Amino acid sequence: MKILIIGGGFAGCASAEILSNFKKSKIVLIEKGNDLGAGVRTHFYGGHPFTFGPRHFLTENKDTYLYLKKFLKMRNCNYHQFKSYVEQDDNFYNYPLNKRDIQVMPDRKKIYNQLKNKKKIINANNLEEFWIKSVGKILYNKVIKNYNKKMWMVDDCKILDTFNWSPKGFTIKSGNRAAFNDRISAYPIHKDGYNRFFDKIKKIKNVKIKMRTTLDKLNMQKKTYQIGGKKYKFDILINTIAPDTLFNYKYGKLKFIGRDLIKIVFPTKEVFPKDVFFLYYPNTEKFTRMVEYKKFTKHKSKNSLVGLEIPSKNGRYYPFPIKSEQKKARKYFSLFKHNCFSIGRAGTYRYEVDIDDCIEQSLKIKEIILKNSWDGPIVGERFK
Ligand SMILES: Cc1cc2nc3c(=O)[nH]c(=O)nc-3n(C[C@H](O)[C@H](O)[C@H](O)COP(=O)(O)OP(=O)(O)OC[C@H]3O[C@@H](n4cnc5c(N)ncnc54)[C@H](O)[C@@H]3O)c2cc1C
Repeated sequence: MKILIIGGGFAGCASAEILSNFKKSKIVLIEKGNDLGAGVRTHFYGGHPFTFGPRHFLTENKDTYLYLKKFLKMRNCNYHQFKSYVEQDDNFYNYPLNKRDIQVMPDRKKIYNQLKNKKKIINANNLEEFWIKSVGKILYNKVIKNYNKKMWMVDDCKILDTFNWSPKGFTIKSGNRAAFNDRISAYPIHKDGYNRFFDKIKKIKNVKIKMRTTLDKLNMQKKTYQIGGKKYKFDILINTIAPDTLFNYKYGKLKFIGRDLIKIVFPTKEVFPKDVFFLYYPNTEKFTRMVEYKKFTKHKSKNSLVGLEIPSKNGRYYPFPIKSEQKKARKYFSLFKHNCFSIGRAGTYRYEVDIDDCIEQSLKIKEIILKNSWDGPIVGERFK
């Protein structure tokens, strides 16, 4: 069984490892960059380990965690907190919003009044409507509105007509201030983070990796591809790159938001308060969030590295979460032929796809191949 994998990020690497367990499989993975792992790869700055943005492992699917634990020792961090700086109150509050913070807000009476109207089931047409119906206008204006305007580079959150990805678990939490104490939240113990997982892929006998390579041609109907003027055959294709790129932008370009990462070393052992790993900025500043890497990596130094993220047009990291773009993506997906899959964040064209989903999709592909039950390129009901 000849398997072609396009892209050597988390989705491509997990698929290569999982499918290499088929005894008769011969896998070719092509990656246009110099490294495997893409943004999840750990690099070093002044000896401080860092990734492009936080990349902590978060899941409700234990199988994906158990899979990763076969290769990496993981450290639990489900106690970690996000704090949002609200300029108008000059205060940091937890994100997800916590009832205990609302108690100390100067405008709490008006907020409680607005929360009285909160419905159990929320029908909404866009992100703004969803959040106002969930938490009221004051809280929406404080922590959600500007953050999303910056994150998606839009003038108005009404443009965002999908939003199931937006509340990270809760809209308002009570009790525990941790962001994700309801699921598995972990980070590799190793100094080089996830790298040994990516490096393992290079050593698998039936996986051939072609770095700094892109396809010249792909024919899904005939199941052939061309690299450097040479033609090859495949039985199964796993695409992990944006579908518009794969089909030479035949139906136009899909919209993505990029991101710039600025690395800042502070001359203190720790910068953020204990248990706070992220700071969010939902005001008029250009950046959206900061992560103090040491909180995840436990790197020992008298200094601490902080990554500051600014949404930009640099890169294609965040599939734009609006229905018309998703419809365009589906047009591309309709071009996929039997046993051709499209997974991962760009491959699925869904912002919701995180590291655990890349593993889940790769595990599911194995099942689909075993059962010979391909029913379309998108893997996982919730992404279809
Ligand atoms: C800033 C940021 C922070 C994040 N933080 C977290 C987090 O904390 N936790 C979490 O779970 N998820 C996080 N995510 C999401 C998660 O990291 C991604 O969902 C996941 O890594 C995506 O992996 P992938 O393989 O689908 O795609 P990618 O990582 O994008 O990999 C695709 C690969 O394909 C290669 N490629 C592109 N075009 C071609 C081509 N034409 N030919 C060959 N190769 C090509 C690229 O070079 C790349 O190596 C974050 C994402 C971002 C952008």
